[in-house]
Amino acid sequence: MLIVMHTKATTAEIDAVCQYLENKSLQSEKLPGSNRVAIGVTGNKKAVSHDQIARMQGVKEIIYVTHKYKKVSREFYPENTIVNVGQAAFGSGTNVIIAGPCSIESKEQILASAKHVKASGAQILRGGAFKPRTSPYDFQGLGREGLDLIHQAGQEVGIPICVEIMSIKDIDLYAQKCDMIQVGARNMQNFDLLKALGKLNTPILLKRGMSALVEEFLLAAEYILDGGNKNVVLCERGIRTFETSTRNILDLNAVALIKKMSHLPIIVDPSHAAGRHDLVLPLAKAGLAVGADGIIVETHPKPMEALSDANQQLDFKQFTQFMESINSNKPKY
Ligand code: PEP
Ligand code: MN
Repeated sequence: MLIVMHTKATTAEIDAVCQYLENKSLQSEKLPGSNRVAIGVTGNKKAVSHDQIARMQGVKEIIYVTHKYKKVSREFYPENTIVNVGQAAFGSGTNVIIAGPCSIESKEQILASAKHVKASGAQILRGGAFKPRTSPYDFQGLGREGLDLIHQAGQEVGIPICVEIMSIKDIDLYAQKCDMIQVGARNMQNFDLLKALGKLNTPILLKRGMSALVEEFLLAAEYILDGGNKNVVLCERGIRTFETSTRNILDLNAVALIKKMSHLPIIVDPSHAAGRHDLVLPLAKAGLAVGADGIIVETHPKPMEALSDANQQLDFKQFTQFMESINSNKPKY
């Protein structure tokens, strides 16, 4: 961090800033320029309070040389972090596929999905139990019963499960039942939840909020790592822009950028990005092409009857073709 002082800053004001930094156990160095002084701050392992320094007398501007996040950054840990879920290893160089329905709807539906996604080569089964729906009149998920159904299906078929958590009150239940816990886009900045998940060892799939900056996304992950849980997989699931012709825009820039900025694995969600089944394959391929470590994709035995996200879910035939195409290098779309 570089603290740039006003041209008219007095020696006492400059010294006061240095004293403040010393009190916070930070090293500082005065860097005199031709008409102003800047103060370089080093040794800051944790974030320094921008606001407190900004309001000190004589301070003109604060420039970040490194980032606010520390533990998620490649500067802190240059190697790729590998997150293991069952046989899957996110960040190891092999694509991990998480697949399953948007919502768990019945025993038959989730069991059929578990069997089909496993047979097609996906490593993890997904399914929503408590659903974050924009409208209170839409299907809200089967809740606790849904969680039990996907847990049983996962056990029966022998595939790990990934389920979205909505509320901090369910954390013990999720820690017991899930191999991976998803934090959905709408909860990316639920800081109490992130802190609580930081105390677990269970791998977390952290989705980017639909209006979140890359920095905010990485800071959300920082909460979990700072709590002690290093098993975080990021997920780019599409952001809101001025464009309305698709549900969201899959931000491939962010995927390529985050691979440089962070050691954490990142996957893409073409289903929620596109909002339509016929765009899922090309977007998935694009995500992998820019460096994503895997894909989360929605598939349903009968998408026409799906209680949520019917238009974006692949039917089983489409899903088998999807997996074949992902596993071959041919651009079959
Ligand atoms: C989901 O994966 O079911 C979901 C609701 O996704 P998102 O949080 O990305 O909207
Ligand atoms: Mn969905």
